[in-house]
Amino acid sequence: MKTIGLIGGLSWESSVVYYRLINELVREKLGGTHSAKSIMYSVDFADFEKLQHQGEWDKLTELMIAAGLRLKNGGADFIVICTNTMHKMADAVESQVGIPVLHIADAAAAEVKKRGLRKVALLGTKFTMEEDFYKDRLAKNHGIEVVIPVQAEREVIHSVIYRELVLGKTLESSRNQFVKIIQNGQKLGAEGVVLGCTEIPLLISQKDSNIPIFDTTQIHAAAAVEFALK
Ligand code: GLU
Repeated sequence: MKTIGLIGGLSWESSVVYYRLINELVREKLGGTHSAKSIMYSVDFADFEKLQHQGEWDKLTELMIAAGLRLKNGGADFIVICTNTMHKMADAVESQVGIPVLHIADAAAAEVKKRGLRKVALLGTKFTMEEDFYKDRLAKNHGIEVVIPVQAEREVIHSVIYRELVLGKTLESSRNQFVKIIQNGQKLGAEGVVLGCTEIPLLISQKDSNIPIFDTTQIHAAAAVEFALK
């Protein structure tokens, strides 16, 4: 079994889910008392959130590379970045750290294709929805068409993520807003919805949507276990 290196704390509300899922999946696959070999380096989210909103992406890239190097030096065989947003610098982390980064968008795309879908709505932070690093990867590398919510909806999603979900708050009023946003995505032709923020599955599950949801936390954790056991 390979040792999984997790960059966590972005936020810890979802990192804890990753940790539980990878261990449950290893037990399911290997049986008995088996559990995942892993190392997590968990950051202080306050520092990262501030730099993100200040647009200090070079500084953030340095911090992510430093986190990756700590994991590599601790014996990790590959890296799992436990957030969608911070895949903005996934390629830099992989090349500078020198071990594979298991990309969350590739894992999500594989699941979308497995279901035979071609067009999905993408919900995540404004960085993930508005910038190209995630959408382009889905479109150019995997041929998946992406629709994103309109601006007012993007504001709602972003604010719910940073003001509620990373703080462990799940509000019925926010869930209702997300349900409407997903329905609007469906009207624009989305056949599925990628929950492209690792905290959104704390709020939204399949019962909240008529179209298939793709829970990137669950999908990424499963991909990590598959890679670790390969
Ligand atoms: N966990 C979130 C994501 O998947 C947002 C937190 C962050 O900015 O990293 O994008």
